[in-house]
Amino acid sequence: MKKIAVLTGAGISAESGIKTFRDSNGLWEEYRVEDVATYEAWVRNPALVNEFYNQRRKQLYDAEPNAAHYALAELEKKFEVQIITQNVDDLHERGGSSHVLHLHGELKKVRSTIDPQLVYTLDGWELKLGDKCEKGSQLRPHIVWFGEAVPLIEVAAEISAEADIYIVIGTSLNVYPAAGLLNYVRDEVPKYLVDPNASPMPWMRNLKIIREKAGTGVPALVNELLARE
Ligand code: NAD
Repeated sequence: MKKIAVLTGAGISAESGIKTFRDSNGLWEEYRVEDVATYEAWVRNPALVNEFYNQRRKQLYDAEPNAAHYALAELEKKFEVQIITQNVDDLHERGGSSHVLHLHGELKKVRSTIDPQLVYTLDGWELKLGDKCEKGSQLRPHIVWFGEAVPLIEVAAEISAEADIYIVIGTSLNVYPAAGLLNYVRDEVPKYLVDPNASPMPWMRNLKIIREKAGTGVPALVNELLARE
């Protein structure tokens, strides 16, 4: 079976009603990154940071996967598919994808502030200040904040290097090191980018840009790939 790797960003979940960060109306128009998505912000004002993630989590419980998430699961009929997502939602899993690597953490999980190995799935949407891990320290959102290391980046780079087909969906390719993953994909590998606002990338070999929303562009691409195999 050929290997397909899929790198996704906030845009794939936009049609499920989850706001992206950088589009107009995006989250960064309401919040400053430095106030809610850095370790320094957590130390300075844990109540604000915690409330930000509680609201994101609450919203996630009301969201459903869209046609793009479901279509990617269909690809597993004929390909070995590995999703690498920058998203912290669980819409790929709920859409039926079996192999999902979360580069930037997972909204429904929390972890210990003294032992990063202690990760828990939260029961419900609300983490409270005062909720502690089994070693007695405050729990924090299981999110890779800006400025923090991305522990799974090497695994993601390996998956990218081994892919026979590479698909990128709904990411501004602004956040590193995730954006750099494309550099690991072999030149001869067919690459597809689905994003209504994609910029041209003339230096990228064998790249087809599909300037459509994920909800329409991804199912069409998936049908094309399945028909060809
Ligand atoms: P981004 O906000 O920087 O970029 C979103 C991209 O999606 C843009 O290029 C935009 O043109 C595109 N887009 C918008 N609507 C689309 C649609 N319907 N179909 C396809 N593409 C569409 O997001 P990013 O590149 O993922 O980086 C931002 C960071 O924000 C990531 O690290 C991620 O962890 C985090 N984030 C996650 C979520 C989520 O989990 N759903 C939501 C917001 C932000």
